[in-house]
Formats: sequence, C-alpha cells, structure tokens
Amino acid sequence: MFSINTKILIIDDMPSIRDLVRNQLKAMGFMEIYEAEDGEEGLNLIKVKYGEAQPIELVISDWNMPKMKGLELLKIVRADERFSKLPFILLTSEAEREQVTEAVLAGVSQYIVKPFSGKVFEDKLKTAYSKHFKS
Ligand SMILES: [Mg+2]
Repeated sequence: MFSINTKILIIDDMPSIRDLVRNQLKAMGFMEIYEAEDGEEGLNLIKVKYGEAQPIELVISDWNMPKMKGLELLKIVRADERFSKLPFILLTSEAEREQVTEAVLAGVSQYIVKPFSGKVFEDKLKTAYSKHFKS
C-alpha cells in the first residue's frame, strides 16, 4: 500500500468532493495532500512539484471538470515521460461509466464511481498501488 508520506494530489471542481477525499485519506493516515480544482491547475501543480524535487506520487482526479477534464489530464500525464508511471485514479459518475474503456486504454490505474464508501476507496488505492509497484 502507499506509504503515509505519499504526496497525493486531489483534483475536483467540487470543494465538497475534495473535502470528502481528503478526509478519507486523512483517516487512512495520509498527511501530504494537495488540491487543485481542475485539470489545468492539477497539471500545473504536478509540474511545479516535480520541479521542486517533491513529486506528486498519486493523483486522484475527477472526470468532469471545467478547463481540462480528467481524461485529458490523464492522457497528457501518460504522454510525458516524467509522469508516465504516475499512479492515477479517476473519479467518475455513473453517467461517465461507459467512457471508462477509453480511460483504461489511456492507462488509468483505477477508477472509482461516485458516490463511494471508505471501504471501496481504500480497496481501490490498494489495487492501484499493486498495479504499479507489484514486483
Ligand atoms: Mg466535477
């Protein structure tokens, strides 16, 4: 599982969802949590933290956001060799479920359909971790 020092970036245009995810992460012991409110701001933060040698190590991003959607952000991140292996979880709504295949093809680590329980959230994090770091 991700260590509690993992630098995690939450990206969602809804403050209530960011709070929900942040609280779940905190309840699991995570301490280094960053937030952005759309894909553009998220991408910028990913680059800034990389430049500061404090790279983001897990992205949890909403799908539907203004400026840049989660799927577009995922594609940009995967196409950049600095971030091609960055664990990336998408939060989707039921309506976006049919588009998930595209996200899988684009290299999403896991996706979580909203609303979700703390248990589902934790399981998805574990699965995403083992997908990237299983020996
Ligand atoms: Mg949204």
